[in-house]
Amino acid sequence: PQLANQIAAGEVVERPASVVKELLENSLDAGADRIEIDIEKGGHKRIRIFDNGKGIPKDELQLALSRHATSKIATLDDLEHILSLGFRGEALASISSVSRLTLTSRTANQNEAWQACCEGREMAVTVQPAAHPQGTTIDVADLFYNTPARRKFLRTEKTEFQHIEEVIKRIALSYPHASFLLKHNGKLVKRFIADKQGALAPRIASVLGQKFVDNAVHINVDYEGIQMDAWLGNESVLRSSNDCQFSFVNGRGMRDKLIMHAIRQAYESVWGVLEQPSFVVYLTLDPRDVDVNVHPAKHEVRFQQGRLVHDFICKSVCDALHAISQ
Ligand code: ADP
Ligand code: MG
Repeated sequence: PQLANQIAAGEVVERPASVVKELLENSLDAGADRIEIDIEKGGHKRIRIFDNGKGIPKDELQLALSRHATSKIATLDDLEHILSLGFRGEALASISSVSRLTLTSRTANQNEAWQACCEGREMAVTVQPAAHPQGTTIDVADLFYNTPARRKFLRTEKTEFQHIEEVIKRIALSYPHASFLLKHNGKLVKRFIADKQGALAPRIASVLGQKFVDNAVHINVDYEGIQMDAWLGNESVLRSSNDCQFSFVNGRGMRDKLIMHAIRQAYESVWGVLEQPSFVVYLTLDPRDVDVNVHPAKHEVRFQQGRLVHDFICKSVCDALHAISQ
């Protein structure tokens, strides 16, 4: 089972930041609104995420760490060649196959918390009592300790930590209801306070700076069941920030080509070619009109009516930019 899990890990666990992303998504899926992230040495050494979500019942701990084994792959060498397997429902199993993973959790109706660890080639899961408030902590130590090929691709501590920060920013931007606390090597690095009403502007300000929000044009428009809430950076912001492009579809962070293209086209038509227009865009539409599972890492979506979505975004952004450049 370890081998099969490592194969899946090849796809889902590219670097420490991908572990952070999977774990944060799990915490949010579990309804957590308080999340603490502890990173050591850019995540090579340790990634620990605490949440106050619903927790995992004792008798489901083992299941949470397991996935269906595959019989198709026989040796470790095959691992490097297979990149196309899916990983849905496999994140924890994958991560635990390439690290030393400990899961501690307590549900609302359990008096005790339980801790599960996964060990050895057979991935035997041992469960023992532990102390933990309601919620879950997942501790991922020594990432890639047993997959040297993958470990070789890790960059410096600083670079890996920057990737982690990017992941957290993106997720924090889409969950203003939740608070996030980030530590690196024991030092507090970021703190995003929750807003009970889920107001976006204060969260955007704490993630990207008050200056971005103050200088951006905010639009809130809808058309044919598509709703768009967007903060569009103006020129002066554009020059000073180089990586500030965020788009969300139904609450999920995306780096979707169609959305990016529509926004770029709008900026270009109003202000000429720009290296890095900066924006935060939230699209909300009927989930039946969009497929979020096109790309395995879920960065891309497929819209039923791509043209319509594209033109709506482009026109709305254009109008807004025209209004301020007059
Ligand atoms: P998936 O998220 O696709 O179901 P994962 O491997 O990421 O697969 O997680 C496996 C299962 O473990 C989840 O379906 C969920 O039941 C449980 N789980 C994982 N993390 C948490 C968490 N932080 N809180 C509650 N349950 C969790
Ligand atoms: Mg998951």
